[in-house]
Amino acid sequence: METYKMYINGEWVNSSDRKLIDVRNPATNEIIAQVQSASTEDVHKAIASARTSFDSGIWSRMPPGDRANVLLKIADLLEKDKNTFINLEVKNTGKSIKQVSEYDIPYTIDNIKFMAGASRIMAGKAMAEYVTDGTSAIRREPIGVVGIITPWNYPLMMIIWRAFPAIAMGNSVVVKPASYTPLTAIKLAELMDKVGVPKGVFNVITGPGNTVGEELAKSKDVEMIAFTGSTEVGKRLSELGASNLKKVSLELGGKAPFIVFKDANIDAAVEGAIVGGLVNNGQDCANSTRYYIHESVFDQFVSKLKDRLSKLKIGNPEDHNTDMGPMISESQRERVESYIKKGKIEGGHLLIGGGRPDVKGFEHGYYIEPAVIYTENESSVIVKEEIFGPVFTILKFKDYEDVIRRSNDVTYGLGSSVWTSDITTAMRATRDLRFGTVWVNEHVVVPSEMPWAGYKQSGHGASLSAYSLEEFTYIKHVYFDLTGKVRKDWYFQIFKG
Ligand code: NAP
Repeated sequence: METYKMYINGEWVNSSDRKLIDVRNPATNEIIAQVQSASTEDVHKAIASARTSFDSGIWSRMPPGDRANVLLKIADLLEKDKNTFINLEVKNTGKSIKQVSEYDIPYTIDNIKFMAGASRIMAGKAMAEYVTDGTSAIRREPIGVVGIITPWNYPLMMIIWRAFPAIAMGNSVVVKPASYTPLTAIKLAELMDKVGVPKGVFNVITGPGNTVGEELAKSKDVEMIAFTGSTEVGKRLSELGASNLKKVSLELGGKAPFIVFKDANIDAAVEGAIVGGLVNNGQDCANSTRYYIHESVFDQFVSKLKDRLSKLKIGNPEDHNTDMGPMISESQRERVESYIKKGKIEGGHLLIGGGRPDVKGFEHGYYIEPAVIYTENESSVIVKEEIFGPVFTILKFKDYEDVIRRSNDVTYGLGSSVWTSDITTAMRATRDLRFGTVWVNEHVVVPSEMPWAGYKQSGHGASLSAYSLEEFTYIKHVYFDLTGKVRKDWYFQIFKG
């Protein structure tokens, strides 16, 4: 079993207090590796190295094209070494190998290539005379040292979404991956090392969020925190960041509605519902979770959904025929089970699933069957709270205004979708739904060029797209006097007469 080191200031190091954390395979519950549990001293070393590298200008003042070339080399190395990343990610997350090999990794490589290219044209938008006597210009400049804290559901991808726009724009970063899934973050640091990213620009420290993550968020030398994770921790980081008013960019939880109107193609909606609900084993912030089905197509939709779900293959994540793997941890499985239980207590009817499946050879894995629960209780926890597991909460609706109001009536605002063949309904819904993404006859797709951003308590800021690059910059106005005068015309305000 391998013990992984941390990557601080271009060197591979152990935790200074020699503590280790076990890393498990959720399909088997076996320990597959150990990583360091960083001490406070280690966190500060990583921050100091990021600070020194940033202040030196070696990376922050490098021409954007040169930085982009480094990022492109990393994308190439990732492509060459993709099997290492695929295997690690599958073993460490329990996601199906078909998802990781055919979606997660190729998409992540595309994300990097987009960020590299887009970072070269992130100039200020204007250079012009907005007053007669001067020329104004906009500069976009890196913020400095950025702390990156990421979740376990897309271990590598979430680091790329947060750390790569940061470094593409010239910042230096300290990355703290989730403790369940730190392995590909460390492997990524190996690639950074290979392509010669200057030391201190990209650091990876591992350890518990409530100590290591908090230390990062509290540090006055860290000027920004980019966090992807739960709304609860996002709030905590906002509080901690207030100590030096650091910028805190938050990509948080979701509770996506999936609205099926009476004129929808029901077969397409059922297929979309299953993928929308189960992609990433139902542990995706974009997952469809609340299925609002028009009463006239309700029975048809539910019967097809149940039929299709019962045919899915739950099993070994490393088998290409597996559709769904386990939850990330025992506590996550218990959390999902407790929501199913509460949903029933609050009036929901469990229509299918929710049990622990018998997966031969994987008896110790954290498996759970997808559950479909019908409820009329709009205020039930299964309608309002993020479960982060394969639970389909099904509700009925009669008219447009009612379903839009109910869809919007949650604290989250990340993803949403509408299923209809009527263009007017589709257009109205894209206007009326208060979510960062509205899909029409689709769910989950986000091209690298488009922003992934939240409304309300799903956070603020954006991942992907040019907006994610802007996120990691300060905006600076530069003004050039064009008169050469000693006393400019407007100085009369002081020098009267
Ligand atoms: P989480 O519990 O909030 O943890 C996320 C990260 O924060 C982990 O690295 C964790 O470290 C760290 N952390 C925990 N407590 C902390 C603290 N007090 N101070 C600083 N850092 C702390 O979230 P998760 O369970 O890993 O991920 C699931 C959540 O992420 C869901 O809510 C999901 O919707 C959200 N998510 C959102 C997006 C998006 O783009 N909007 C994408 C993916 C996931 P440890 O692992 O050591 O605890």
